[in-house]
Amino acid sequence: MLRVNSDRLRKSLEEMGQIGYGGPGKGVSRLALSDEDKRARDLFVSWLKEAGLEVIVDPIGDIFGLREGSIDAPPVMAGSHLDTVREGGAFDGALGVLGALEAIRTLNDYGIRTRKPVAVACFTDEEGARFQPCMLGSGVVAGLMTLQEAYAKKDDAGISVEAELERIGYKGNKWLKPVAYFELHVEQGPVLDAKGISIGVVEGIQGIAWWQGKYQGEANHTGTTPLDMRRDALLGAAELVCSVRRLAEEMGHDTRTTVGRLHPYPDIINVVPGQASFTIDLRQYDEALYEDGKKRAEALVAQAASNHRLEYELEMVGDAKPVHFDPAMVNLVEEMAREAAFSYMRLPSGAGHDAQYMHSICPTAMIFVPSIGGRSHCPQELTDFDDAAKGATVLANAMLRLAGS
Ligand SMILES: [Zn+2]
Repeated sequence: MLRVNSDRLRKSLEEMGQIGYGGPGKGVSRLALSDEDKRARDLFVSWLKEAGLEVIVDPIGDIFGLREGSIDAPPVMAGSHLDTVREGGAFDGALGVLGALEAIRTLNDYGIRTRKPVAVACFTDEEGARFQPCMLGSGVVAGLMTLQEAYAKKDDAGISVEAELERIGYKGNKWLKPVAYFELHVEQGPVLDAKGISIGVVEGIQGIAWWQGKYQGEANHTGTTPLDMRRDALLGAAELVCSVRRLAEEMGHDTRTTVGRLHPYPDIINVVPGQASFTIDLRQYDEALYEDGKKRAEALVAQAASNHRLEYELEMVGDAKPVHFDPAMVNLVEEMAREAAFSYMRLPSGAGHDAQYMHSICPTAMIFVPSIGGRSHCPQELTDFDDAAKGATVLANAMLRLAGS
């Protein structure tokens, strides 16, 4: 079995974690295609070159480091993302990218020439924190969104993906598609840490539906407008927040629903809110329940509008169906964990990942390592470096097994 160099992996994670680090309690902020994201990309590219890899940047800004095999074939690929949410952690995404790089560095250490090529991938805008939808880079690679659709996405300031790719110099011109894809990631949930298990063998990912919506009522004077004559958009949105939460409780089966953004307008103490914009996030692992939940969530938006005499707009901005990974790939991950004598268990993923989209074009699997206290998307996110190295060891051996030698 290959063993990765845990000190080298730790050093790389720590160095990458400095980029966008805001100080104690502030975590890491590397929003997609920002200056911080560019610095992270530049550092990653310098490491790819140091490892002797061919650097490929595709038109949506995904970065690949390709290591030749003894035959000419599509590569066995592993990766994740280097963008983060605002004030996120140093492991989410970075572990999957740098763990894959460590796997390839380890092949270099051992002097192994694989039969098929292997590649490490860094996908653009996985988080969706700046540009929606999330998983933009892998979505384009998997053909779930056209390049032109992705280019046209804008952040809150009206700046487009295409303009930012050009500005930071990561609008490439060559595609790379793998024969198989692995993703190492922190669990971002509490299960592995609570059970004291080092490796999660991920069986699939729950579906994620995202909407942006807006209620339109009528702004008016709070002192002179009788209650029965109001068309209060925020009141409608408030009802929606509660009914969307009740939907998850009624559906059961670990359905999760969240209204994460809510903006009344004009946002003034003595004006009845004439407008309120909101988002909805719905998650469910079972396909039939997922589809049913989407219909019911949309019906709730209409219901609250009619209860408060509002007009509304609703746009679905993300619809990543539930996936169940290729059983042979999942078995391979499990076998590598067992051979390495690491503790492991099977589990589904609650969070979305690039693997969710890569699954639609090639056999895919994921490896989880514990998040201490289950914390993620926050400055407190932490994973034990020993567990990170164990995950990279499972990854390296799974890649080698598929690529052959
Ligand atoms: Zn991630």
